[in-house]
Amino acid sequence: MQQITSAHDIQRVVLAARREGKRIGVVPTMGYLHDGHASLMRAARAACDIVIATIFVNPLQFAPSEDFTRYPRDIERDRQIAEEAGCNILFTPTSEEMYPEGFKTTISVGGVSAPFEGIFRPTHFNGVATVVTKLFILTQPDKAFFGQKDYQQCLVVKKLVRDLAMPVEVVMCPTQRESDGLAMSSRNMYLSAEERSRATILYAALQAAQQFIMQGNRTRLSIEAVLRDVLLSVHDITIDYAAAADSEDLSQPDEFAPQQGIVLLVAARIGSTRLIDNLLVR
Ligand code: AMP
Repeated sequence: MQQITSAHDIQRVVLAARREGKRIGVVPTMGYLHDGHASLMRAARAACDIVIATIFVNPLQFAPSEDFTRYPRDIERDRQIAEEAGCNILFTPTSEEMYPEGFKTTISVGGVSAPFEGIFRPTHFNGVATVVTKLFILTQPDKAFFGQKDYQQCLVVKKLVRDLAMPVEVVMCPTQRESDGLAMSSRNMYLSAEERSRATILYAALQAAQQFIMQGNRTRLSIEAVLRDVLLSVHDITIDYAAAADSEDLSQPDEFAPQQGIVLLVAARIGSTRLIDNLLVR
């Protein structure tokens, strides 16, 4: 596996690969890799000739109050995981490389960016859309692999690609979970042992609401009440949102139609750690 840090070098390598007709897959990450990330890399390995994983803790997608400076980093371990998952290239640019002096461009997707994360992290998706656009330009992928773990992010990236006619297929891969159901996340390392055991309540709430829908309940507020009730059964939890929405456009009808796909979305703080999770009910 080759590690590349400069924008110029990655473009040179990628253009050469494209000239040879290679199919390129990219997996954008912020590093501190776990099996969720590795599953995306394995999916890319199975579908593409060249797999590029990117590791970049993107300052643009963190608000000043958030955890940018303390976001966990371990590049040696990341190299090992990426290599084992079949990556050919690890692209690890610096901030200066991604956002050179005078960088002023912002990509703003609108629409699906607005609710949920868009309310609690108003600048987040502009940062995501801007970095994803630049990473796509640098890596020229045929396919880009994202995790369902960040469901709204997947919808934002799909919309970005459609609106700007980027020749990239966005592939959404299933959420990888720990054995007790907690969605894998680099941020789980912030949790104390006691918080870690309470954190399983997110998936429990999603499963309870899924069950409730399967029993034929399609009134949004009653579904959201199930989510809330389960979440609030543990102490010291702050809910940012616990919502049911249309799985395509995130709209929130009072009543879901019989064939309408529903996504259950949860964001909550356990102690000072903010966790998100979701479940699709189709
Ligand atoms: P991050 O490093 O948190 O920005 O995540 C990079 C990519 O990995 C995103 O597409 C995430 O949705 C995806 N990802 C993160 N956690 C998981 C997980 N538990 N299962 C599957 N994909 C994940």
